[in-house]
Amino acid sequence: MKVCLYIRLSSADKDLRFKTESESIANQRALLRRYLREHKEFSACEVIEFVDDGFSGTNGNRPGFERMIEFLKNGGAKLVVCKDLSRFFRDYMEIGDYLERIFPFLGVRLIAVNDGYDSDDYKGTTAGMDIVMKCIVYGFYSKDLSTKVKTVLTSKAKKGQFIGGFAPYGYLKDPANKNHLIPDPAASVVVKKIFVMALTGMTTGEIARALNDGHYETPSQHFHRLYPDSKKFSATSKANSWTCDNVYKVIRRREYTGAVVSSRCKWKGIDNPHTTLQDESEWIIVPDCHEAIISLEDFERAQSAILGEKKGYKRMKKDYLLRSLVRCGICGRVMQRCPFYKCDKNRFVENSPCPLGERFYEDDLERIVIASLSQLLQTVVDEDKRILDAAAKSHGSAEQLRRSILRIEQSIKQCQTRKMEAYEKYSDGKITRDEFIRFRDQLVSETETMTAEKNSLEERLALLEQSQSTELHDLAESALQFLKATDVTNEMLRGFIDRVLVFTGGRVEIVYQFNNPFEDTAQDTK
Ligand SMILES: [Zn+2]
Repeated sequence: MKVCLYIRLSSADKDLRFKTESESIANQRALLRRYLREHKEFSACEVIEFVDDGFSGTNGNRPGFERMIEFLKNGGAKLVVCKDLSRFFRDYMEIGDYLERIFPFLGVRLIAVNDGYDSDDYKGTTAGMDIVMKCIVYGFYSKDLSTKVKTVLTSKAKKGQFIGGFAPYGYLKDPANKNHLIPDPAASVVVKKIFVMALTGMTTGEIARALNDGHYETPSQHFHRLYPDSKKFSATSKANSWTCDNVYKVIRRREYTGAVVSSRCKWKGIDNPHTTLQDESEWIIVPDCHEAIISLEDFERAQSAILGEKKGYKRMKKDYLLRSLVRCGICGRVMQRCPFYKCDKNRFVENSPCPLGERFYEDDLERIVIASLSQLLQTVVDEDKRILDAAAKSHGSAEQLRRSILRIEQSIKQCQTRKMEAYEKYSDGKITRDEFIRFRDQLVSETETMTAEKNSLEERLALLEQSQSTELHDLAESALQFLKATDVTNEMLRGFIDRVLVFTGGRVEIVYQFNNPFEDTAQDTK
């Protein structure tokens, strides 16, 4: 497969003084090449570059662009990748021409990397054009024009016309009028169900659990089924599940009351293709534009129920104590934290051994982790002290101890030999039975004494060797610092703990960064 890269220093680079290093030909090339490398489907493509490096005015010549269009018309390639659409086209009219007519006719796919635009996302729809315009038009030099388009879109929004690319979950675009929404028979049932549950006081987590138990399609699964060719949500797993998050998003959608909500996003500026979320007070909300799924009263009541729940979260506290430590003991995944820790592994899997639906409260986990760690570290400190004290008491070097041990071992062997010799003498009739027994008992007693001495020396040697190993001693030093600290932080915990595994029933297992020289410190939260 062949791919055309189009690179251009646009008029904006000159006139708006945006000619920064990042806009240079080399950097555009690097950006586009990186994009191709990062997308497997393109990695084997043959690349043909078309470059316009003059600052052409809005009506200037673009020889590179024209050569590329000629190339595409001759079937040279079916894919064009550029940095952004404002660089690619000279004006708004040209975009319409190319995106709606020429490229679809030629079967050419266009990707604008920085705009996040891929013409395949809008295949077979013209509905997408509005949103495409909205996203990119601001990047044009022709500011008047973009203002004009924005005004048109804003006035559409103010009239309550739906201007998004796709209908929100729960609705479909009216086939008779693309700016009007009609309820989606399947999804609207789920939306109603969610609100009913929220109004009975269920938390988003409980609602998500109930929906998963009932095997309800998630918004992204539903979207994939409706628009199997669209790239939107393509990053989401098709087997994803309901979570606090997507339930929350449904409950927050004012569209269900029949309102059209626009201007959720705004553009950061003429040079920035990205959008930011607008403050809710700046949204354009026009009520009674389409059939409501939820009454306004129910909607408001659900908001306060859900927002109240949110306030209870410690979500804002960024450096929470157990950050990136708590994992499901069964599947090993990082546990979802809000409003309590839980395993979020695909909840459609029945009989999963994971503790699905079980809540592990942050306070409990924090308490257990700190208590277990402190206890272990105290043991480490005590043990280190014991070894050092013992070593101080033991006289002589390890080498001397080893020699003494060897000497005793030889004496013990000699006793054995003497015992054998005595037995032979007794067998030969050279000594009496009584003499032999007396002699033998004496040797046994001597051996016992020497063995005890040998054991004691060996123990001293072991302690001495241990005291010379710095591993335990180093650990004991940092343990002491931890134990003396007045406040425990996430960083401190992560210095000692690799992960905290949580199992069903609230059993907790701590995996330490160091080799725990002592026992298993599993504990229970309940
Ligand atoms: Zn799990």
